[in-house]
Amino acid sequence: MRYVSTRGSAPDLSFEEAMLTGLARDGGLYVPAEIPSMSTGDIAALAGLSYEEIAFRVMRPFIGDAFTDEEFADIIARAYAGFGHAARAPMVQLAPNHFLLELFHGPTLAFKDFAMQLIGQLFEASLTRSGKHVTIVGATSGDTGSAAMEAFRGLDSVDVFILFPHGRVSDVQRRQMTTVAEANTHALAMTGDFDDCQARLKDMFNDHDFRDGVRLAGVNSINWARVLAQVVYYFSSAVSLGAPHREVSFTVPTGNFGDIFAGYIAKRMGLPIKDLVIATNQNDILHRAISGGSYATTGVIPSISPSMDIQVSSNFERALFDVYDREGAAVAQLMAELKTDGGFKISQGALDRLRSTFKSGRVSEDETLAMITRANAEMGELLCPHSSVGVKVAQDHLGETPMITLATAHPAKFPDAVEKASGIRPDLPARMSDLFDRPERVTRVENDLAQLQELIRGRLAA
Ligand SMILES: *Cc1c(COP(=O)(O)O)cnc(C)c1O
Repeated sequence: MRYVSTRGSAPDLSFEEAMLTGLARDGGLYVPAEIPSMSTGDIAALAGLSYEEIAFRVMRPFIGDAFTDEEFADIIARAYAGFGHAARAPMVQLAPNHFLLELFHGPTLAFKDFAMQLIGQLFEASLTRSGKHVTIVGATSGDTGSAAMEAFRGLDSVDVFILFPHGRVSDVQRRQMTTVAEANTHALAMTGDFDDCQARLKDMFNDHDFRDGVRLAGVNSINWARVLAQVVYYFSSAVSLGAPHREVSFTVPTGNFGDIFAGYIAKRMGLPIKDLVIATNQNDILHRAISGGSYATTGVIPSISPSMDIQVSSNFERALFDVYDREGAAVAQLMAELKTDGGFKISQGALDRLRSTFKSGRVSEDETLAMITRANAEMGELLCPHSSVGVKVAQDHLGETPMITLATAHPAKFPDAVEKASGIRPDLPARMSDLFDRPERVTRVENDLAQLQELIRGRLAA
């Protein structure tokens, strides 16, 4: 299995190389040269299997010869062992024909654990074999940072540094980063906002001496291995509702388009998915793109579903690559326009193809709160604000096909919004009820590239 860049001018890579590289050298994102397919029989055979067994069968064709079957099964087993639910991704029913897929039973209570826990084990297996060490630096507005630190803590082959905006993440989010005890994890509270953190991260990747010197690696949501891990729960949930003999639709609360793009891959592999519904908050670039045909940045307005507060939806480039007939030059042209003009128009042909799979909806702040209130009162379900955005949009798209809405975080991760809407302050699950008693370990840093680089080099030498 080879991986190609969406911009067409970077070298093809193996699964392992694409995973360790992250971003392609031409600025593009890696995608499989061909999407493997699963037959109706292959999909039917998933019924009744454990999450881990489904994960093995769905992901195996993508990894090529990177790992033996035994190694890969082992990696999967270790990745999901720390989840707080035996089903890993259980589903509950909200209403006739409407189901909620709970993706928040991992160690940091958000769906990012599904990908990050797997990627932690994949990195460790690959680096142990090669005897190499890498330095992961990430920027986070909340959920990605803690998921990465949980996934890589204690691994010999990796140090992980997470930049987060000082004073701008929730107490739960901060403590999930600062209370990780292992010495290979480093929480850095930076002066500035999330965009500043991301800008310094980019600077580090663009400083090639530094990048090569510390063997910098990225695990942000453009890493192909993260998308792949998320394909699995589309299969497990659809099969439990009767696929391949029955079609299903999904609604996905979306920011960077990573999670919903995994659903698109599942569909391309042969899973009978009718619609993939994009659910956005007031930062609605994707909803405007699908409904109006124009992808135009406008600036981020902070919301109560902060993990979806993004300006540019990175993984959308992967969908564009497909609907532009996998022509890297065409995608490179659109991305150049995005950079110079802040947006681009999607061609009619490409737009028609996007619309044949993707539907979309946008939810205001008031509607998000109102949906939390109603879901609690009418369905007995306490939703986090991101999942609430999903459930609201899904309701507007219910029909004869069963709808599965992805619940992306546990309500206890966003207690203020949940309490405001429902009157209930959600408790953390018992396994992390001591979060507020654990000692914090964090380094305050300025928004200064040279100082950050010096700190990272110093920690690695220690
Ligand atoms: C990251 C995140 C999202 C958005 O996921 P994308 O893959 O960026 O679309 C939604 N909800 C929560 C809770 C998240 O952490």
